Parts: sequence; structure tokens; C-alpha cells
Amino acid sequence: MTAWSMFWITNGMIATLSFYFAYVFILKKDITFSTKILLFLIQLPILLLTPTTLNLLGFDLINCEAIESPFFLYYYYTMGALAIIGILSLLIISWRKIDKSFRKEVILLVIGLEAFLILFYFLSGISSYLDNYSIEFYGLFGKLIFIVFLAYLIVKFEVFNIKLLATQALVWASVILIGSQFFFIQTNINRILTGFTLVLSSFVGWMIILSVKKEIRQRKEIEHLLKIKSEFIDIVSHQLRTPVSVIKGMASMLKEGDLDNAPKEQKDQFVAGIYEKSEKLADILNDILKAAELDMDNFAFTPASIKSVNLSQLVKGIFGDLTSLAQAKKLNYQIKISPDIINLNVMTDESFLKHVFQNVTDNAIKYSKEGGSMTVDLGKERDFIICKITDSGIGIPEDQKDRLFEKFFRAKNAVDAHAYGTGLGLFITKKIVEAHPGGKIWFDSVVNKGTTFYIKLPIAKQA
Ligand code: ADP
Repeated sequence: MTAWSMFWITNGMIATLSFYFAYVFILKKDITFSTKILLFLIQLPILLLTPTTLNLLGFDLINCEAIESPFFLYYYYTMGALAIIGILSLLIISWRKIDKSFRKEVILLVIGLEAFLILFYFLSGISSYLDNYSIEFYGLFGKLIFIVFLAYLIVKFEVFNIKLLATQALVWASVILIGSQFFFIQTNINRILTGFTLVLSSFVGWMIILSVKKEIRQRKEIEHLLKIKSEFIDIVSHQLRTPVSVIKGMASMLKEGDLDNAPKEQKDQFVAGIYEKSEKLADILNDILKAAELDMDNFAFTPASIKSVNLSQLVKGIFGDLTSLAQAKKLNYQIKISPDIINLNVMTDESFLKHVFQNVTDNAIKYSKEGGSMTVDLGKERDFIICKITDSGIGIPEDQKDRLFEKFFRAKNAVDAHAYGTGLGLFITKKIVEAHPGGKIWFDSVVNKGTTFYIKLPIAKQA
């Protein structure tokens, strides 16, 4: 009877632990302490009431079966239903946050987990309702489905680190085996020897686990470096090769004297072409070097480089520098600065911040169509300056929006519209904006209608 009632504790835990597992798997982080308490509180009534008659009303000795309390059953099935709905809601709510390359794994895990929970709780409910407990055991087929999905995920996507799990299991198993000898041994000398072996094997086991963890970390770092290397080679071969071959071709024509008899105007055009391409080369190299400099998790400015900078002046300067580019595209090009921010400053590294506005403004012009419009708008929102850069350009396709700040990423329509670009500008920009306390960059965009980038920077405290 006691064993029977304990059954509910483990079965109830299946609901809470399944939700916990799904949460950690989908969001790749642990649940907060308060959510852990909440899950425990949901589990608590089952723990407390298991030994009482609110769990089992009694035992029908004639038919040899337990008489279950309806209260307990309702609570138990509600937990199951909540876990099923909770995991599904978690998937829907977090969908946009889940990395695209990880979505297939998440879908497979959720299908497996939901199939298991639905079969488990549904068949358990039917068996209670019909008083036929043999049906309940079919619910265990759900477990089989889940294990099949899990095995597929492990083999196909290597989602769990089997090497680490296996090492930990081996170490724990040997420690438990050695420890269990204490129940059988009789002499003190044996106790001392077993104790010594236990301490030694725990220590060696711990060292092995650490070295496996280190090896896994190093492997991940190597994989990351290899990915960067291939992206780098890709960008070098596409972006650097073109200007270099144009410069080489033009220079060789000049060297061979092909232009000796050409009019001066044509010669000047040639030299200007070489100059323009070499500037592009310098830009690309600068982007690559800057991206390498900023490519760390928590990039911060060097304290000595931080000073108070007037933001409206900085943005006005960059806006002015790009006027000829905007005019060449016949853009309706304007800047609006709200009077209450004219004297406001930002604590920043000026050369880095210049890069931010140069990149976003330059993109707005680059990805605009001829005769379109482009506006820079500076305003204030509580303790922050909000800078809006709006264009009426090609826009960003919906399915590529979440990759925009990734290193080397260029949307398909941008590659078609403008062959030149490294896809490093926004990666650099985001790192710099986020190096300011509370700094943030985001955007709204509709394909063929236009894009607005928002940059939020903290206002420096007035001295
Ligand atoms: P690049 O412009 O060199 O390609 P960025 O990192 O500056 O690299 O931008 C990354 C991508 O973001 C661009 O290739 C383009 O797809 C998209 N993008 C950025 N700004 C705009 C904009 N104003 N309008 C449309 N697409 C944009």
C-alpha cells in the first residue's frame, strides 16, 4: 500500500521535471530560483498528501485494488495537463529567440516529450476512470517514443555530450560500488583500505571528469575557430579579390603604356578608379581588424579613451560628410535634432562611436533607391538619447532579420542590390553600442518600403 501511494510522488514529478528539462533545453539556461520554488510548491500537495487518506481512501481487498481519492486524481491530472500546455507555450513564446540552426532539435524534443506526456497522463486517466489498471502500462510506450527521439537527437545532432555523461556515470558507478562495500566488510583494516580506495578513486574520477570537460571545451573552441576561418576565407576571396584584380588590371594598362595616347580626362578617370578601389580595400581591412578587436563576449572601452562627447555635434558631422553620397543618389536627406538634446553628452570612446553612426548612415544611403528619402532624428527618452535613422530603401527580408547582427551576414536582397559589403559593419556597431551602459540597437523594416534603425545611448551626468 505504501509503495502504491509513493507511485504518485514519482508520477507527479514527471510533470514538473519534464517542464524543467524542456525549459533548460529550449532556452539553454537554468530556470530562476523563484520558478524552482514554484515548481516545488506545485509538487508539494502531492508530497504532503501522499501518506494521507486524501491519496488512497482505502483498499478493496475483494478486488485487490486501491480506492483512489478523486481530489488527488484531479490534482495529479491537472499537473500533467499544465506540463503539456506549458511545454507547448514555452516553444511558441520562445520561438523567435531560438537560434535557427537549433530549431529542428527543439521541435524533435518537444514532439517526443509531448507524445510521452500525453500518452502517459491520458492512459493513466482512462485506466483510473475505467478501473482497469492494465491500460496504464501502455502509457509507458510514450517513454519509448521519447527515448527514440532522444536517441535520434543524440546520434544525429550530438545534442548531449555523451562522452561527458558516460564518464560521469562511470565515475559515479565506481564510487557507489566501492562505497557500498562498507555494508559488507567486517574488519577495521578492510574499512581503512576501502575508505582509502574510495577517497583515491573519487579524486582520480574527479580529475578524469575535469580533463574530459577541458577536452570538450577545447574541441568547441577549435570548431568555432574553424568556422571563423572559413567565413574569413569566404569574405577575403569574394570582397578582396575584386578590388585587387581591378587595381592590378588598371595599373598594368598604365604600365604597358596603353593609355599613353588617351585624353587626360580618361587617364584621370583611370587613376580615380584605382584610388577608389584601394580605398575600398582599406575599408574592408579596417572592418576585419575592428571585428577581430571587438570579438569578445564583454567588450569594454579602455577607461583612458572614454570622454564626454556631444552627440548631436558628432552625428551632424557624420551627416555632413555623407551629403555628397546622398546627393549622388538624389535622396531627400535631412537631419532633425530635438532642441532638448543639443547640449547633451555621452560618455564614450569617440572614434568607436563615430564608427557606429558612419556605418548605420552609410547603410541607409547604400541600401536606398535613387530619389528615395533618408532621415536622421535625435530625441530624448528619460536618461537616454534615441537616434532614429530611417530610409525608404530595399528593407530587410523577414526570414533574415534575426541574423542581421551576425558577423559576415548579408541579406540576399542586399547582395543583389550592392555587391560590395563585408557584413561586418552591424556586428561591430552592436558591440560598440552595447559597450555603453544600457546601450541598445534595434530596427524595424519592411521589404521594399524601408528600414529604421534605433540607437539608444545613455546621457552623461552633467558635472
Ligand atoms: P554590409 O553593409 O557591409 O553588407 P553591415 O554589417 O553593415 O554589412 O550590414 C549587414 C546587412 O544588414 C547588410 O548586408 C544588409 O543585408 C542589412 N542592412 C543593414 N542596413 C540596412 C538598411 N538600411 N536597409 C536594408 N538592409 C540593411
